[in-house]
Amino acid sequence: MDFMKEEIERLKEKNLYRELREIETPQGKRVIVGGRELLNFSSNDYLGLAKEFDCECLKRWGAGSGASRLVCGSFTVHRELERRLAELKKTEDSLLFSTGYMANLGVISTLAGKGDLILSDELNHASIIDGIRLSRVEKVVYPHRSWEFVEEYLRKNREKYRRCFIITDSVFSMDGDIAPLDRLFEIKEKYDAILVIDDAHATGVVGWSSLELFKIEPDEKTVIVGTLGKALGTFGAFVCGSRALREYLINRCRSFIFTTALPPFIACQTLKNIEKVPERMEKLCRLIELFRDLTGIESRSAVFPYIVGSEREAVELSNYLFEKGFFVPAIRPPTVKESRLRITITAEHSEEELKGLWKTIKNFKKRAGEPPRGGCQS
Ligand SMILES: *Cc1c(COP(=O)(O)O)cnc(C)c1O
Repeated sequence: MDFMKEEIERLKEKNLYRELREIETPQGKRVIVGGRELLNFSSNDYLGLAKEFDCECLKRWGAGSGASRLVCGSFTVHRELERRLAELKKTEDSLLFSTGYMANLGVISTLAGKGDLILSDELNHASIIDGIRLSRVEKVVYPHRSWEFVEEYLRKNREKYRRCFIITDSVFSMDGDIAPLDRLFEIKEKYDAILVIDDAHATGVVGWSSLELFKIEPDEKTVIVGTLGKALGTFGAFVCGSRALREYLINRCRSFIFTTALPPFIACQTLKNIEKVPERMEKLCRLIELFRDLTGIESRSAVFPYIVGSEREAVELSNYLFEKGFFVPAIRPPTVKESRLRITITAEHSEEELKGLWKTIKNFKKRAGEPPRGGCQS
């Protein structure tokens, strides 16, 4: 069993070793780690809703779901949430999943099959990549955001395939930039393809749906995956699309069928959280603009990448910030190509806190070398 220890040693030497850091408080802008209070700039709880709770949801539904949806784990509150999510995303219907990872895995491997083609952005989330692997369909990974590549490829090759899928994150999780959804939407029309959008970091941040940014309404050849565990503040995921899509997934999608249903109290809490989204989203929007102006980092989402030269520098900067009371993870290969800090801002932060973080990052360059310790790494 030495192979594990050897691999771990290798990771440590390369500054790629990862470990879990335990938080002693609920998720939020202030967290306690190892007895120290830190200002959190690393969570996907973009609206600060994760710590919200309504005891009525637990009282009404209990904590468990007791079965998969198709057996006896489908509750009225699941359906109520599905209808609400479809309404918000402007699709006919939706279907809940236990996690976004399982939603992507399931949707892609269920819809795509022999004779099909998947065009996938090179920076798509790991769950999309794994969904494509599971489908065993021919895939073409296109350069980041290059709709030109997608168009050219389909123009030349559309004939060779049965169904074609264009799959993209809308807001990219590590870069915070936005896919050219208007172009991709047109291309999917022109070449009779299906557009699959992962709205994990868009829902409740750039609007209810990323398509709103382009004033586009989804049609029956648009599939939108969203998660409940980010801005909506709970846990789980959903797929929005046509009524037929929902029925098809209920009958065919293994990651929906063979797993325990999302606990109904979570569906109930999500419905409560949704009510609070508009006001907080507005506040977040103002902070995003402010932080963009302050840092010059071009992002229209709550994710701000601060690229640094090396793995080592990313970890040192993260450690330095930790010492100064800021919780900002270093993200390194293989998660990303270029090491960086991934700064996420939330509706809970204040203007002063954003300024404080940026000032501390700038001071890092000037400081005398201190030995690194603590910090958070991913
Ligand atoms: C977080 C994330 C997922 C996975 O969602 P979970 O509910 O956390 O499993 C999928 N896609 C993207 C782009 C994500 O950021």
